[in-house]
Amino acid sequence: MFSYRHAFHAGNHADVLKHSVLIATLQHLLQKDAALTVLDTHAGAGLYRLDGDYAATSGEAADGIQRLVSPAAPTTLAPALQDYVDMVRAFNQGPTTRVYPGSPFIAQRLLRAQDRLKLFELHPTDARALAGNIAQLEAGRQVAVLTEDGFEGIRKFLPPPARRALVLCDPSYEIKSDYGRVQDMLQDGLKRFATGVCAVWYPLIARPEAHDLPRRLKTLAQKAGKPWLHATLTVKGGKAAPAAGADRQRRPGLPASGMFLVNPPYTLEPALREALPQMAELLAQDRHAAWSLEGGGS
Ligand code: SAM
Repeated sequence: MFSYRHAFHAGNHADVLKHSVLIATLQHLLQKDAALTVLDTHAGAGLYRLDGDYAATSGEAADGIQRLVSPAAPTTLAPALQDYVDMVRAFNQGPTTRVYPGSPFIAQRLLRAQDRLKLFELHPTDARALAGNIAQLEAGRQVAVLTEDGFEGIRKFLPPPARRALVLCDPSYEIKSDYGRVQDMLQDGLKRFATGVCAVWYPLIARPEAHDLPRRLKTLAQKAGKPWLHATLTVKGGKAAPAAGADRQRRPGLPASGMFLVNPPYTLEPALREALPQMAELLAQDRHAAWSLEGGGS
């Protein structure tokens, strides 16, 4: 079974990028009344304690969300970054940020009665935690937790009833085949539902598959004639080697990550162009901090 647990990484710089993109994308999609289906292929546990053992072991949130909510943070943030900070604050009472919402809780908070959220989580412990956390929301039929493979599981929901969907694909990339599976999932997803929005997170690590992934996704989008957007955030130099098992949890080594979107909302590019430089500046761990944003096809 997998050893990756998102609790070690919740609120790190990669989550700042991923969840800022998720919020900005959802905000745009929810402007239309028609029902939206959100498919979270790799959901995690949904909610995380930042003052618990996992987060304390890695200390990653300290260089992520905690920098943005600290009194030392600038009072004026780019709107996409401010919306992200406001979202995390909404899960906390008082000035200390102890609870971190994962993608399921971020999405659920933004959705309306007519929207649907399908959450896939394969790790039995995280799936149980997710189901328990979601049950407390009493969201009824709006949210479904599926202990299934997310790459495969989304097929049965595409195309969605109102023909509007966002797929968030956020694997742990613990096994090398995840990179190929992301590509296959996107290819199949676009065949089933060509106008769906798909957002893929990936780590920028010293592994050929990680560097190839955005190139492959770009080619795929171009061949399908679909617009795409690719954002990266680097917080430090050096390339973290892929780590396995428990080592992966202890090593706070991830220097950079990216988000690749197909059919992104047109509002996302300008929002990220404003937010990414600020993310790079505020989350920098050394002088190699940087960002990039590239898009095409629209
Ligand atoms: N999306 C979450 C968030 O932003 O809060 C974090 C998800 S975490 C990076 C990846 C999760 O995928 C882990 O909890 C892992 O157990 C789960 N997982 C791994 N392979 C999976 C698969 N094939 N299908 C569904 N879940 C999987």
